[in-house]
Amino acid sequence: MDLTDIKSLTLEELTLQLTEMTFPPFRARQIYQWLHEKLADRFDDMTNLPESMRKQLAEHFFITALKPVEVKISKVDGTRKYLFALPEGIVIESVWMKYRHGNSVCISSQAGCRMGCRFCASTILGLERNLLPSEMLDQVYQIQKDTGERVSNVVVMGSGEPMDNYDHLIRFIRLLSHEKGLNISQRNITVSTCGIVPGIRRLAKEGLAVTLALSLHGPTDQIRQELMPIARKYPLSEVLGACYEYYERTGRRLTFEYSLVKGVNDRPEEAKALALLLKPMHGHVNLIPVNPIQERNYRQSSLSNIQAFKNILEKNEINVTIRREMGRDIHGACGQLRSQYLRTKHSPSDEN
Ligand code: SAH
Repeated sequence: MDLTDIKSLTLEELTLQLTEMTFPPFRARQIYQWLHEKLADRFDDMTNLPESMRKQLAEHFFITALKPVEVKISKVDGTRKYLFALPEGIVIESVWMKYRHGNSVCISSQAGCRMGCRFCASTILGLERNLLPSEMLDQVYQIQKDTGERVSNVVVMGSGEPMDNYDHLIRFIRLLSHEKGLNISQRNITVSTCGIVPGIRRLAKEGLAVTLALSLHGPTDQIRQELMPIARKYPLSEVLGACYEYYERTGRRLTFEYSLVKGVNDRPEEAKALALLLKPMHGHVNLIPVNPIQERNYRQSSLSNIQAFKNILEKNEINVTIRREMGRDIHGACGQLRSQYLRTKHSPSDEN
């Protein structure tokens, strides 16, 4: 019999399954608390359950518990980068960042990605597989245990396209914000998408209060298509229409991510076009100096170009911030730790 992924079950589902095993509902509440509040990794750690019950549980369920294979801590700002191993040896990457307003974790939603954005390291080897809800959760859980500090913000901005793993994403959000779990406010959870229109429209109707971030990266279809294959499927007018619907239904202000790539999307004319495009939208722009990856020769815009780009947006009354680069010294951004690991340490000849 296949074991059930117990950390991906809601409290209601867990209660139902335990009832079928003839356990009373209070046992489900105890187990849920062990898993999602006390962050237990093993049934044997659940000391208020009888031993016979723990044994029975282990015959029905497995507990996702990610193992860190590498942790890098920045000397500059304390940022921590984690590489976690999944059971079959696949690795995924997560990042912990300390801000004045609290601790933020950036999680992966898939191992690899099939969206093919030109500047992104996570997509080079394609999609390996979707992550389970428990595997998304456990990135946050293991990191909170390792740092000993409460996580207050979670951004789904690591490897993968969350809308391409939609059902697991929704379950993850509900478990993460559940009052009997870590109880992270939905307002402090951000989902970043490359612009999958049906996914955005569906998310707008879930009754959740998460923040939506759109990876925009260009003010025209032409520039977006140059950088992001998905833009050929969904034109900008539709993507922004779906984002607007998200804003209207949830009341949540939108975030627009714009990675600046030298000579591709960083000219004053693009800044002006962007300002015009976003004027009616309720959101702010997050400018990200592109992180050059080894496989492509995209380069970062100069500091003066970035500042000029920002000034034009501001003059047009668009809220804008430049993303502070965290953990520069530890190979940081955007899936680069994982891809470096895959390149150097995990060539097939290393496997036995
Ligand atoms: N698939 C989702 C989330 C993953 S990436 C999405 O596309 O939004 C999170 C953000 O980092 C996206 O805006 C993505 O375009 C950006 N990004 C990825 N690689 C980058 C790089 N090398 N430099 C700058 N931004 C990058």
